[in-house]
Amino acid sequence: MKKAKFYKTNQDGSAQCLLCNHNCVIQNKQTGICLNRINNGGNLYTLGYGVISAQNIDPIEKKPFFHFMPGSLAFSIGSLGCNFKCDNCQNYAISQVKSIEKILDNFSNINPERIVEEAIGNDCQSIAYTYNEPTINVEYYLDVMRLAQANGLKNLWVSNGYMSNECLKEIFPYLDAINIDLKSFDNNFYNNICSARLEPVLDNLKKIKQEQIHLEITTLIIPGLSDNIETLSQIADFIASELDGDTPWHLSKFSPDISWKLKNFPPTGEDIIYQAYEIAKDAGVKYVYVGNIPGDQKENTYCPRCNELAIRRLGYHVERLDQNGHCIQCDRSLDIVE
Ligand code: SF4
Repeated sequence: MKKAKFYKTNQDGSAQCLLCNHNCVIQNKQTGICLNRINNGGNLYTLGYGVISAQNIDPIEKKPFFHFMPGSLAFSIGSLGCNFKCDNCQNYAISQVKSIEKILDNFSNINPERIVEEAIGNDCQSIAYTYNEPTINVEYYLDVMRLAQANGLKNLWVSNGYMSNECLKEIFPYLDAINIDLKSFDNNFYNNICSARLEPVLDNLKKIKQEQIHLEITTLIIPGLSDNIETLSQIADFIASELDGDTPWHLSKFSPDISWKLKNFPPTGEDIIYQAYEIAKDAGVKYVYVGNIPGDQKENTYCPRCNELAIRRLGYHVERLDQNGHCIQCDRSLDIVE
């Protein structure tokens, strides 16, 4: 166990965690919602320091990042627990464990040096903190991020965007890119499906953009839950007006087979995804992508000015047709970080 950052001790011996917007008040010997932080005598400790539940060498497109170092490899790591309880979770085996404390003995402790060595040794240009919510393991990940940065690697988070302002400020100097799940524009969805709130996510998206961290957004379109076209249209308007139209938006198809609690739901009809794609383009979102529809041409990057094909994607194969991040036809920037 390692002492946690971001908390205060209350007079009654409880500890208030300030790491994410749940702000859990945690009694002695109890854990917060994410199960990763435990109160021990008024002090808060993280259970997950050094705990890696999964690691893979992934194409960066799989995270997904389409405008950040396209065609590169990301050394992807995940831990245990989550501060959300999404019914649709695809990684529930590691994110929705019943107790982190009870299964800790199943994992050996991996130091940050080894993560960085493995990333470099496997020709990865970045480390992706993914699979479960990286926020809840921030003490460990900050140590990895510092070392990664010192060794020329980029740091990428795949996140639900629910971290506190204090957490954001601490990770910003080391964070190169982040993909945030904007699951819906309906607070009821966040309440009922994720046990969370929409507003902190929207606030954090704006802060990340202001900080000029590379940002991409993903929305999983779930039939009957997050496929309302007006709500999707509100997300498109939010991206175009409150963030920036150059923020890539990934519209993903839902698959019941791999979801935690929605196994009886149908897969998303492709019509609704294509409809949302067109609405987003009309709203001024320049880079819209469909996800989980293999071989679809709407996974490609087209020039927002002249519509020339710039990056062709087939699965995770990437064919660059641009010239140094610019359109070969009209020379417009394609807003790519190399
Ligand atoms: S990080 Fe965990 S313990 Fe802390 S406020 Fe969020 S859910 Fe609660």
